[in-house]
Amino acid sequence: MFNQFNLDPQLLKAIEALDYNAPTPVQAQAIPAALTGDDIMVCAQTGSGKTAAFLLPTIDKLIRNKAPNSATRVLVLAPTRELARQLFKQCELLTKFAPIEAGLITGGESFKFQAATFRKNPEIIISTPGRLIDHLGRKPTLMDDVEVLILDEADRMLDMGFAEDVMNIANKCKPDRQTMLFSATMNQKGIRHVIKQVLKDPVAITVDDINSKHDNIKQQVLLADDDQHKDRLLTWMLANETYRQCLIFSNTKAKTDELYHFLRYHKHKVGVLHGDMTQDERNHIMSRMQQGHVKVLVATDVASRGLDVKDIDLVVNFDLPRSADDYVHRIGRTGRAGEQGLAVSLVNHFEWNLKASIERYLKIELEVRKIKTLLGKYKGPKKLKSNGKPVGKKKKDVKKAAEKKAAIKARPGKPKKPRAPVAKHFGDGSAPFKRKSSS
Ligand code: AMP
Repeated sequence: MFNQFNLDPQLLKAIEALDYNAPTPVQAQAIPAALTGDDIMVCAQTGSGKTAAFLLPTIDKLIRNKAPNSATRVLVLAPTRELARQLFKQCELLTKFAPIEAGLITGGESFKFQAATFRKNPEIIISTPGRLIDHLGRKPTLMDDVEVLILDEADRMLDMGFAEDVMNIANKCKPDRQTMLFSATMNQKGIRHVIKQVLKDPVAITVDDINSKHDNIKQQVLLADDDQHKDRLLTWMLANETYRQCLIFSNTKAKTDELYHFLRYHKHKVGVLHGDMTQDERNHIMSRMQQGHVKVLVATDVASRGLDVKDIDLVVNFDLPRSADDYVHRIGRTGRAGEQGLAVSLVNHFEWNLKASIERYLKIELEVRKIKTLLGKYKGPKKLKSNGKPVGKKKKDVKKAAEKKAAIKARPGKPKKPRAPVAKHFGDGSAPFKRKSSS
C-alpha cells in the first residue's frame, strides 16, 4: 500500500484517482530511498512504474519544503520528446490535488512560448537536453535553484549522444542537489563516467535490469523468406490475433511509411510515427492512439522509448532491431504495469544472427512459432553452434575452394572462340539495321 511511505495526503488522493492499488517493485524500493534525500541510481525498465517512483518522492519534497521565492526546483531530463511529454502528463496527474506546477520544454515547439513557461517559475521542468541547452545559452541562470535532478532513461540519452549536454546541465544545477538516475541498463558505454561526474555516493537499486525475463510478455519469432512473406505474416496476425492495439516496428522511416500505406490499403485503422514528422504531427498521432482511434501504429525506434499506451498488447518487429537494448524497449511497449502482452519478431535469413545475439544477451530463447498456411522456404539454419549462430563453412575450407577455383581458371586450355560482336542499340532503344550479306 502507498500509505507505508507517509506521503502527503494530496499525493495519496492522486494515487487513488489513478487507481494504483499497490506500489510496483521499483516504487517499493526507490520511493523510500529517494525520500531520504540520497542520490539513487536505479536499473529499471520502462513499464515498471519508474515515473511515479521518482515523481512521488520529489513532489512530496516540494510540498513539504515550500520555497515560494525559488525558480524551478526540479529538473527531469528525458531522451525523447515523446517520453518528455508522457512524463509531463503523468506529472500533471500526480500533482492534480497539490499546488505544484510543471512545464514541458522540448524541441519542435515554440521557443517564445517556452521562454514564457520559464518566466512563470514552475516548480518542475521536464525537458529534453538539446532544447534546454539552447535556453541555458540565452539565460544561464535558469537552473540555479534546481535541488532535484532526475535523469530518466539515461542509457538512451547517452546512446543519443547527450552525455556532454547532460553533464553541462547538471553543472548548472545546485551543487548540493539530489540526483536520481534511471536506466534500463548499467552496462551502457559511458554511463559509469556520467554517474561519477553527476551523482554523489548513489544508492544502487536494481529491480529488473535488461537481462531480467519479461514473464508477462510472450516473445515469439516467425521465420520469413523476404519482405513480401513478412507482409503476409503481418496481415495474418492482424486478422487472427486478439489484440486491443498493435505497435509495429521497422528500422527505417521509408519502410515505416511503406507499411503504413500497405496497411491502410488493407483497411486497417493505422497511424505512422517517425522522426521525419513534425512535432504537431507526432503529437496528433499519439493522442489518436491514446484515444483508441488508431488501432495499429507503425513506428521507428523513436516510438520505442517512453510510449505508454495501456492498450498495446501486441508488438510486431517487422525488422529485428539492431541491438538487444532496442529489442527490450520495443517489446516493453506491451505488458505495461504487469499486463499480459505478445511480442512477435519476423526474422529472415539475414536476421538470424541478430536474433541469436539478442537471445544470448538477454539469456532467453525465443519461441519459434509456425503459421501452417504461411510456411515459407526458410526454416532456419540446419546446424547451430553453441552461440546460436549457424554452423558455416570454415574459413580454411572457403580459402581452399577459392584457391582451387583460381587454379582451374589459370590452367591452359583450348583457346576460346572470339565472341560474336553484340549488336549495339541506338539511343532510342532500337537495334541498328543488319546488313544483308551479299551472296
Ligand atoms: P512507467 O514505467 O512509469 O512508464 O509506467 C508504466 C505504466 O504503469 C503507466 O501507465 C503508469 O500509469 C502505470 N503505473 C505506475 N505505477 C502503477 C501502480 N502502482 N499500479 C498500477 N499502475 C501503475
